[in-house]
Amino acid sequence: MTKKPWRRRVVGDRRLAPETLMMGYGYDPFLSERSLKPPVFHTSTFVFRSAEDGKAFFELAYGLRAKRPNEEPGLIYSRINNPDLEILEDRLAILDEAEVNLAFASGMAAISTTLWAYARPGSAVVHSGPVYGGTDFLLNRILPQFGVTPFAFPAEGGVKAMEEAVERARAAGPVAALFLETPANPTGGLVDIAHARALAERLEGPQGRRPVVIVDNTLLGPLFQTPLAHGADLVATSLTKYVGGHSDLIAGGCSGTAAAIEPIRGMRTILGTMCDPHTGWLLMRSLETLKLRMTAGAEGALKVAAFLRDHPRVASVWYLGFLPGDHPDRALFERQCRSAGSTFAFEVKGGEAEAFAVLNRLEVFKLAVSLGGTESLASHPATMTHSDILPDEQARLGITPALIRLSVGIENPDDLIADLGQALEG
Ligand SMILES: *Cc1c(COP(=O)(O)O)cnc(C)c1O
Repeated sequence: MTKKPWRRRVVGDRRLAPETLMMGYGYDPFLSERSLKPPVFHTSTFVFRSAEDGKAFFELAYGLRAKRPNEEPGLIYSRINNPDLEILEDRLAILDEAEVNLAFASGMAAISTTLWAYARPGSAVVHSGPVYGGTDFLLNRILPQFGVTPFAFPAEGGVKAMEEAVERARAAGPVAALFLETPANPTGGLVDIAHARALAERLEGPQGRRPVVIVDNTLLGPLFQTPLAHGADLVATSLTKYVGGHSDLIAGGCSGTAAAIEPIRGMRTILGTMCDPHTGWLLMRSLETLKLRMTAGAEGALKVAAFLRDHPRVASVWYLGFLPGDHPDRALFERQCRSAGSTFAFEVKGGEAEAFAVLNRLEVFKLAVSLGGTESLASHPATMTHSDILPDEQARLGITPALIRLSVGIENPDDLIADLGQALEG
């Protein structure tokens, strides 16, 4: 445990909770004119005290030698490091229960830089489906142009489908990564992270190198699901969603052990996919209320989902908290997730016309894609976020024309229920 007071994680014999650490961890006011809050370090470059310092900082940044005891990496240039990002990353690592976090310009910057760091020509990447549209495009349209072959398995296919995809992939070349998105959006399908890790370990002997297990934790992370604790090597999150939480920024993060993160750090420096200092500062402000916001959103979502379940004009509600005891995902949900979160989908009775009529009548819910903000949003997956999926595949996934996705915010849940009530009745 470090002696630096701004990096202390215990008081007396109590280990401080993550939400407490979000207020000040990693920031020393006495390095910044005693300012209570970290300033925004709007600078591209940093002044060296001496040429020797500059040399030492570069030696560390370029990995030319190992860190000396108690040596801190020096600030060089904001594509490599910046105080706002370093403080933010220390806090995100705490939430992900990781050694190290890297902050990126977007969730897609985090996901793509991570895959560039691990995939190589001739290798295969196994991934669950459905995944976020941008991730799907990267895996199935862009990476193949660089000789990386994707092998998909459906989230609802369980461990058997995952095993079959790994078998097909290993016949095609060394498997570089297993990429999972769980819960899947908008279907809520769950993927067993521990099982993916076990499959990755089985490949270590035959391949000479264990594939990395990467989890996109955007839907429940970082509070309601900790993939690293279940065997993932890397957890990627779109900070645009719950972590930013106010629908006013775009950013991403990737966490893991120092060893797993190292190649991604190098790739981020060269691709220039890092987060900017101002966005980093906004994210720190957001982290102070993350637990309050996510808890309120989850409580509201449970109320809204319960209202919809009993409504005569609603055909089905896909809310993880309602998984029946005999559903194949129930045990996995209880092992892997701490909450059902606040993004879920429901089907109205009828088709596109009935779904559109409800969407167009909503007044408190805003009609927009994205999720995880303080305000509630509603969207139509079949014609919006998931419109590039072929109709057959949409049908197989259950993305019907009657499906509406909700992201429940932190308004009074009874207002949201009144809004849905008038929209459904209308
Ligand atoms: C939004 C989202 C992304 C992409 O994040 P951006 O910040 O928009 O780049 C990736 N995965 C999931 C699950 C998302 O919801």
